[in-house]
Amino acid sequence: MTDDATRNPLVPGLPGEILIEDEPKLRPQSFGEFIGQKKIVENLRVYIRAARERGEALDHILFSGPPGLGKTTLGHIVAREIGTEFRATSGPVLEKPADLAGILTKLAKFDVLFIDEIHRVNVAVEEYLYSAMEDYSIDILIDQGPHARSIKIDVPPFTLIGATTREGLLTQPFRARFGVLEKLDYYPPEELYEVIMRSADILKIEVEVEAAHIIARRSRGTPREANRYLRRIRDLAQLTTGGRVDVKVAEEGLRMLGIDEAGLDGMDRRILRALIQHGGGPLGVKTIAVSVGETEDTIEDVYEPYLIRRGFLKKTPRGRQATRSAFDHIEALGGKAGTEEPGLFKK
Ligand code: ADP
Repeated sequence: MTDDATRNPLVPGLPGEILIEDEPKLRPQSFGEFIGQKKIVENLRVYIRAARERGEALDHILFSGPPGLGKTTLGHIVAREIGTEFRATSGPVLEKPADLAGILTKLAKFDVLFIDEIHRVNVAVEEYLYSAMEDYSIDILIDQGPHARSIKIDVPPFTLIGATTREGLLTQPFRARFGVLEKLDYYPPEELYEVIMRSADILKIEVEVEAAHIIARRSRGTPREANRYLRRIRDLAQLTTGGRVDVKVAEEGLRMLGIDEAGLDGMDRRILRALIQHGGGPLGVKTIAVSVGETEDTIEDVYEPYLIRRGFLKKTPRGRQATRSAFDHIEALGGKAGTEEPGLFKK
């Protein structure tokens, strides 16, 4: 995080976001460039056109889904399609109503205000957002004690775009204020193949078709991961094959990254092994977090959804349980996987 990002929540990119190499270059700039999530894109196009025809601000949107699936990218694209500014901040940065008031009063008509990790906005700020979202106005308290009074300030019609990895943590009244709720899902390998080919083109990396398919199948259904793996594999290719990514380099690169045949990484396997060591569970997230050395939030936001999707883990009322496939997978790896460190290519 730069100093700038700490001081001013309205900086390009998200405050607190680590700017990943090349990521801005790879971000699709229009719906046409955005791969997959067809239904969502189709809906957004309709809503944007209709709002434009009515001469109104686009309704507030909530994007939910695991990290790296394109929530921020869609936010950027929506602003671009409307033809307004994209202003970004994030839930944890908005500590008090004054932080929010400062941002809202700087918005121009129809701007997009993007709030990442919106489930982490605190309650006091959330209440301010309600009136801003509903009535395009906020009540600001001036003075303190007996002289305290509040004045109403108008906010230009704007579109709030919230992004969250944990929709379930949003209060019902907050959720209800979004007119558009869209859930992003993991991408199938065919779409990740397209993401990889597009990125390879932009970064001028020569990738064999079969190599791209291999990377696509093992990228956790996530474009950000697909791009990250591609860049690391490019490094290896540069040193071994003069830059060309063939099947051998792709497989070796993935192995060095600690990605196994099922596309699981070291932490995924550590989680499964922790469960298996306890007879397959059920275990609480807290216990899993302690045994694998990761935070509960990261386990719930990043790892668990994918393990559930792949049928390796189940959520039960008594905790998390490893499935038969998890036992089979870890056993097939010879019981060693999960303890190794990816070393050179560590995240
Ligand atoms: P999120 O906000 O959901 O964490 P981002 O929007 O930041 O995810 O996406 C991460 C990166 O993945 C983007 O910079 C972009 O390069 C890539 N990406 C995401 N979705 C797509 C997509 N549908 N098509 C192509 N690239 C994508």
